[in-house]
Amino acid sequence: MSVVTRFPPSPTGFMHIGNARTALFNWLFARHHGGKFVVRIEDTDRKRHSEEAVEAIIRSLEWLELDWDGEIVSQFSQAERHKEVAAQLVKEGKAYYCYCSPEELQEMRDKAKAEGKPTFYDRRWRDRDPADAPKDIEPVVRIKAPLEGASTIEDHVQGSVTVTHDNLDDFIILRSDGSPTYMLSVVVDDFDMGITHILRGDDHLNNAFRQKVIFNAMEWDVPEFAHLPLIHGPDGGKFSKRHGATSVEEYRDMGYLPEAMRNYLLRLGWGHGDDEIIPTAQAIEWFNLEGIGKAAAKFDFAKLESLNAHYMNEADNTRLIELATPFFDGELSDTAKERLMQGADELKERAKTLIQFAQEGAFYAKELPFDYNEKAQKTLEDAADVLEALKTALENLDDFSAESIQDTCKKIADDLKEGKLGKVAMPLRAALTGTTVSPSIFHACAILGREETCARLQASID
Ligand code: GLU
Repeated sequence: MSVVTRFPPSPTGFMHIGNARTALFNWLFARHHGGKFVVRIEDTDRKRHSEEAVEAIIRSLEWLELDWDGEIVSQFSQAERHKEVAAQLVKEGKAYYCYCSPEELQEMRDKAKAEGKPTFYDRRWRDRDPADAPKDIEPVVRIKAPLEGASTIEDHVQGSVTVTHDNLDDFIILRSDGSPTYMLSVVVDDFDMGITHILRGDDHLNNAFRQKVIFNAMEWDVPEFAHLPLIHGPDGGKFSKRHGATSVEEYRDMGYLPEAMRNYLLRLGWGHGDDEIIPTAQAIEWFNLEGIGKAAAKFDFAKLESLNAHYMNEADNTRLIELATPFFDGELSDTAKERLMQGADELKERAKTLIQFAQEGAFYAKELPFDYNEKAQKTLEDAADVLEALKTALENLDDFSAESIQDTCKKIADDLKEGKLGKVAMPLRAALTGTTVSPSIFHACAILGREETCARLQASID
């Protein structure tokens, strides 16, 4: 059997981290088995439908580099097919028209409540003669759920789960306006798309039993299920905005790399021994349903950050600069890019995110005149003689390498009886970067080159 998994988001807003994890697991499972991963937009709720939300989901998948097979399917566009299946079920006596008015249904609920029974539909039209149908009511279509016995799902995460049939009612599959319900659409689409494995949040476990009723009525094979536990925040509650960013695009905008996010999301509910760093190729090789945890996973911001630091360090410099570009002020000139290429190894070793990379590398992109922050200004004010000495010495330095710049600074420190190298290096840093934090300033100075260094020193003296 060739594996086909799916990612069927409802486009209600942005892509939540929980959805991203679901997408990743389905993608990994499909790729591991050399199968297919398909995307379906569950866009049947037309009142709340937003194209923007669809675009946000697609952007998020693209950013996470979770590629899908075939065209993205719109569930809404399959409505005719869903209706056909409902009609077939009615024809085969597996579903039926129900003509209850809203008042009747309310009465039914009130009565059940008063008797302390589940407020299920009492199946009054299940075996009634359609000739009794009132003329003024547009009927709904209900499925005939089994009346006795129980159903069991062998879930790959939850284990064997059994629900007795007195917990299932004859739920609606077609509304009175003729539109298919979500429950019907999901099953028909999953069948039509050839889905073999459904990995999704455990909030859908109850739905699985209802969906099974439809699969069985159509005599279609029921896919395998793996219902994933929720993601919790660090304090144990359901992961939500109060814990921090919840959407994929927010993490992109905070300067995380997609490969770090993938590794992090993988570990959020899936394990392979004690392995923490699992690059995607390795994840594809290892991914299995047995490794999915049974308990809710806790979101851990520090872990995400440390994984990101790891992947930043591993990343190709050209790509890193490209990814970091939006975090710089304005466009990067060719000169800035060249300097960043030379400084990237050091910058990426220090940075945990692309934002930090851009912050610490910003001075490579600066053009005179630029501002000095408060600390830098203070450093410069106290170091007029050092700056003069630096400028003269560096103007005349033949070998403009980091080592020889460092030696020159040492010599100035000795000459001016400043003693410590920092007394010279710090003003140099302030003059060149406008700040008091940077990677090795001697190396940075060599990268900026003699002309730019001296211009920046002169500007700081002025
Ligand atoms: N559209 C549903 C959701 O976003 C997914 C349903 C499913 O996986 O079956 O929660």
